[in-house]
Amino acid sequence: MNNVTTPSQITVKNIMPKKPVIVVHGGAGAWEPERWKSGLAGVEDAAKAGFKILKNGRSALDAVEAAVVCMEDNPVFNAGLGSTLALDKRIEMEASIMEGKALNAGAVGLLKDIRNPVHLARIVMENTDHVFLVADGAEKLADLYGLERRKPLTELRLRYWRELTQKLKNGEMESLPKLKKLLQSHPNLFATDTVGAVALDENGDAAAATSTGGRALKLPGRIGDSPIIGCGTYADNEAGACSTTGIGEVAIRLVLAKSACDLMRAGQSAQQASENCIRLVNKRIRLKSSMGLIAVDTQGGVGAAHNTPNLCWAFMTSKMSRPKAHMKAKAVLNATPIEAKPTVEKAWENANL
Ligand code: ASP
Repeated sequence: MNNVTTPSQITVKNIMPKKPVIVVHGGAGAWEPERWKSGLAGVEDAAKAGFKILKNGRSALDAVEAAVVCMEDNPVFNAGLGSTLALDKRIEMEASIMEGKALNAGAVGLLKDIRNPVHLARIVMENTDHVFLVADGAEKLADLYGLERRKPLTELRLRYWRELTQKLKNGEMESLPKLKKLLQSHPNLFATDTVGAVALDENGDAAAATSTGGRALKLPGRIGDSPIIGCGTYADNEAGACSTTGIGEVAIRLVLAKSACDLMRAGQSAQQASENCIRLVNKRIRLKSSMGLIAVDTQGGVGAAHNTPNLCWAFMTSKMSRPKAHMKAKAVLNATPIEAKPTVEKAWENANL
């Protein structure tokens, strides 16, 4: 596993990585230092699992699905096993997947105990006439396809739930709906660890997938950005692919994953588009410590940016013998868009670790 690095240690060089490439994230937010090691190991494993598939000549779609499954099965992340608890202690998981060739997509929400929500999202995409299924209907489809069930509750999430609800009871979080105030006084409240993956395969096909337990203490029935195509997940062979993480309501209001793809379609590299999306969040929503995202462009360029303290992520290209994992990417705290010249490719590939 890699050592933990800070952005100042990372130098971005103008070198274009070759296809295939995979980028994964294990969530933005404020990662407690004691969880860094397992988070970094988790994203590294996921990048490896996805890249192996790409190397065998299989599709970006297969690769992002496998990478997300790997993180859904790892209790360190808030997706699948280890999903966060809603206000009333229930777990409602959600996931989405999209391929960029024909723009097919599938999404699921309000799932209680499906082992791998991203598998069900793919089933929705490939075997139904719909894009988004939730709750009982989605669970019925899972039964039809014999998907495995698993109780996603872990001790860690239960402890977080107890701590947060205790704060609520103490009146320390009296204005729960007032997100801005809450964030100022409790910056760790929305520490989230959703997972996602984007990939470009040897054929130049792009894909993205995202999976989450949602935000801690969410109201039952709440659906975030992760399963909403265009907000948490987007892939388009003419642009690239993006997966977002953070406060879902922010990504929904800015249709953030599609916005990143639109910037890439206009010629920005994955890194430029990622940074500009965070600048957009800072400018229009003005919610500090709210978002992170990963992206890949049509040239195989890798992008990652956030305005949260951390973004747990990893990437791997064909020039690398193993993935590089980080707890931070490019932290963007201002709101001025960078001038993004078409054809300038920046890559994390040569990060000076
Ligand atoms: N975006 C997710 C949500 O709002 C949470 C996360 O990224 O951790 O449901």
